[in-house]
Amino acid sequence: MQRTAAVIGSGFGGLALACRLQSAGIATTLIEAREKPGGRAYVWHDEGFTFDAGPTVITDPTCLEELFALSGRKLADYVDLMPVTPFYRLMWEDGSVFDYSNDETALFAQIAAKSPGDVEGYRKFLGFSENVFREGYQKLGHEAFLDFKSMLKAAPQLARYQAYRSVYSMVSSYIKDPQLREAFSFHTLLVGGNPFKTSSVYTLIHALEKKWGVWFPKGGTHALVRGLVKLFEDLGGRTIIGTKVEAIEALAGHVTGVRLAGGEELRFDAVASNGDVVHTYRDLLGHHPRGAKMAKSLLRKSYSPSLFVTYFGLKRQHPAIPHHSILFGPRYRELLDDIYSHGMLADDFSLYLHHPTASDPDLAPAGCSSFYVLSPVPHLGKLPVDWNAVAPKYAEKILAYLEKRLIPGLREDLVTMRTFTPQDFATELNAHKGSAFSLEPVLWQSAYLRTHNRDDVLSNLYFVGAGTHPGAGIPGVVGSAKATAKLMLADMGAAYPLVGNGGPALAA
Ligand SMILES: Cc1cc2nc3c(=O)[nH]c(=O)nc-3n(C[C@H](O)[C@H](O)[C@H](O)COP(=O)(O)OP(=O)(O)OC[C@H]3O[C@@H](n4cnc5c(N)ncnc54)[C@H](O)[C@@H]3O)c2cc1C
Repeated sequence: MQRTAAVIGSGFGGLALACRLQSAGIATTLIEAREKPGGRAYVWHDEGFTFDAGPTVITDPTCLEELFALSGRKLADYVDLMPVTPFYRLMWEDGSVFDYSNDETALFAQIAAKSPGDVEGYRKFLGFSENVFREGYQKLGHEAFLDFKSMLKAAPQLARYQAYRSVYSMVSSYIKDPQLREAFSFHTLLVGGNPFKTSSVYTLIHALEKKWGVWFPKGGTHALVRGLVKLFEDLGGRTIIGTKVEAIEALAGHVTGVRLAGGEELRFDAVASNGDVVHTYRDLLGHHPRGAKMAKSLLRKSYSPSLFVTYFGLKRQHPAIPHHSILFGPRYRELLDDIYSHGMLADDFSLYLHHPTASDPDLAPAGCSSFYVLSPVPHLGKLPVDWNAVAPKYAEKILAYLEKRLIPGLREDLVTMRTFTPQDFATELNAHKGSAFSLEPVLWQSAYLRTHNRDDVLSNLYFVGAGTHPGAGIPGVVGSAKATAKLMLADMGAAYPLVGNGGPALAA
């Protein structure tokens, strides 16, 4: 008889897992609480403007291509990925600008112009980053860590690459210029990590971006979500959208199915949750001793900060502003301390500005431009304010700053605007403390020390997504889907990586 599985949540991790299971012949049902799929990669359409809610920097397209190739299909037949250059424009308040890309000649020329003494250091840093990338991403990025032995096996590599040091400390050992140190360390913020605390393993992001570039789907990130949903449905998968899972049903040492909002009960041979890990154990499984125990342990862990995101449409185009900009503020370490440790909403900010109409003008009405600006802020555990009250003032402050620094006339040109606050992360996405990236990516919450891709007690309950190994970010959660699918298919006696529709088997 055909085996069955449920995937709760349609974030990139849930979608990737559902595609992998369905490709391997498991009859899979994907259940999403919200009205549209995508999780953090949700989308809004306001007055002709398209606003992708979350991820915009698409790296490692190969991990996405693999999902299609599993059934002999091609990503390009579903989604048009466009290269983005520069990857990011980095800007400081003193007027310095650094265009970050994988054009080696341009990169070296900019480093030489800024700090000639750092050219050699950067070369060595790149070598280090490439080595960590091979070990940490290509070898271990999609392997589940289910027991302590697996952690011990990885220990020599972790020691060799001084994983106990922070990204910033490692970058600083190669590069001396303070702005270049920021340029080569800020990436951990894109997965919720403080560069001063996150393990140096995360320097691998630099090599990953350099190897495969930065991409953006025509139609926006949600076009990629829709492409994955279509792939899943083309393979015969069933999607239930706009229906929350209220409980995971369990009997002794295994789970039996899920109960939907409205009371319907569905039975499955296996259940995987792509929802927040605290939400899953505490709210969906709180009736079972295992759920209560795991929730208690997870509540003691540390969580990534949240984000305050302002989406806005302007009646004018801004061809001089690239697709991705980072606007560094006057403080770096101190600002991050305010966010990660002090729980303070600082007066200054460092911002990420997304300008998708730079790559795809169709994301706004003719002659207009669409943007979002993102400010990292403390999560609700550290800053329990009423964001409904704070949001209008904070958004106004950010837009005024942007207007002064980069987009003259911004507020006069404003056609539409919306915000997404830490409170929205908590209520819309069931994110614990409104964290934008789940468990903080620090060494003591990584690999075996992160939520396991398969529960230790409930033998057919699995996890996928940012709270599991390897962690947040699209390549991370798509890697977690690969790790989880391997376990599920082995447990259900299905071949891996052999696939359902006679497509090619892909090596790791
Ligand atoms: C603003 C922002 C910008 C980002 N930028 C980037 C970027 O540029 N590049 C990058 O690689 N990463 C980026 N990230 C990180 C990346 O988006 C996330 O790490 C990743 O998308 C999370 O995917 P996930 O699989 O963990 O699922 P999530 O996106 O967290 O989705 C989980 C889904 O589960 C659903 N769910 C939860 N509980 C239930 C329930 N009980 N019943 C049914 N459904 C449920 C939720 O509704 C949600 O749809 C960004 C994140 C944010 C917030």
